[in-house]
Amino acid sequence: MRKINTKSFRRATRTTTREINRQIVLNLVREHQPISRAELARHMGVARGSVTPLVKDLLADGLIYEGTTKAVTSRGRRPRLLYVRTRDRLAIGVDIRYSGTSILVADFAGQEIASDRFATPLVPEEMVTRLTSRLRGVKEKCTDVGECEGVGLVVPGIVDPATGVVLRAPTLGWREVDLRGALAAAIEVPVYIERDAVACAMAHMWMGHTPGEKGDNFVYLTVSDGVGTGLVVNGGILRGALSTAGEFGHIPLNIDGPRCACGARGCLEAYTANPATVARYLGRELDSAEAYAALRFSDVDIRGVIARARSGDAAASRALRETGHYLGLGIANLINAVSPAQVVVGGEITAAWDLIETFIRESLRSRALTTASAETPVVIETNEDLLRLRGGTSLVLAPVLGAPEVA
Ligand SMILES: [Zn+2]
Repeated sequence: MRKINTKSFRRATRTTTREINRQIVLNLVREHQPISRAELARHMGVARGSVTPLVKDLLADGLIYEGTTKAVTSRGRRPRLLYVRTRDRLAIGVDIRYSGTSILVADFAGQEIASDRFATPLVPEEMVTRLTSRLRGVKEKCTDVGECEGVGLVVPGIVDPATGVVLRAPTLGWREVDLRGALAAAIEVPVYIERDAVACAMAHMWMGHTPGEKGDNFVYLTVSDGVGTGLVVNGGILRGALSTAGEFGHIPLNIDGPRCACGARGCLEAYTANPATVARYLGRELDSAEAYAALRFSDVDIRGVIARARSGDAAASRALRETGHYLGLGIANLINAVSPAQVVVGGEITAAWDLIETFIRESLRSRALTTASAETPVVIETNEDLLRLRGGTSLVLAPVLGAPEVA
């Protein structure tokens, strides 16, 4: 049960109940469309008459629309069915990474309308100029399809949710960069911003196919150049007091372990991020700065290691197996700390899932604290690139579909 914060609250007004029920109707239509008013009333456990004014509200605001159907009821009537208006409502997702910046324009149903990609300028001012002109370009292309209702930026770093400022993005070399503010001033739509793993978790929550309990409580774990998590608890993102919750990549597995990019030793990331797996395969020290630098000039990357393991290279299989072992330990920590209904793993390593799953499960079982938690489902997201972009569009979608904040 949530305690009411007497210093910061939103007082319930006469319209509060209606606001909440309206959002419930909107989400029921979204999940069950096409749906009749009678079915809606059944889902909500109320009389049809209670649903009618809420539907009227949503129709008036253009959030849903009425369509016809070929189906005829037993009384010979043709029910008017409700749909969520998605086709002419557009959202833009922007995935910013060291290796490049991708843009996706999609409608509210997630259908792709346009896309673009360019090299990421590391100087923030240059990034603002480049991104503004590219966004104007894709917006232009979509004017016939619908109206762009917002831009969602996905960044590989920690974001202050109150100000939208990127506090730190190590791979981009950014500290205290107000990309959101600069863009919002340049283009005429709302701009949202989020850390990448959180955006992936949001995409999974809003656009994914795991409705119900599992979709309300899960951890999204991304294993790529770095390791990060997005924690979804009771249908909301767990952020913590300083919004740095979810930095599970930096929980120590061994305090004397290899040096991590964060400066500490033995972090989960230092054992399981792609560079660690590749270094392990090449027989290099995980914690030597030179080894990491050397990897940049090596012609083997994580995909290469996976391909070699598949063609019978024993060293590659061993390197992946070890990564699986450490991943299992990290996931056990996550499960013990958060008790998610499931863990979703994304990133390049998922291409080797059939080779490492047994080892992940083995170490997970050895460290999970109860028999039931040891069996927490661990599933994979095979297209994290697309998920990150969908995460960007979800940032625009969420305020439209989310629950109103009360008390
Ligand atoms: Zn670390």
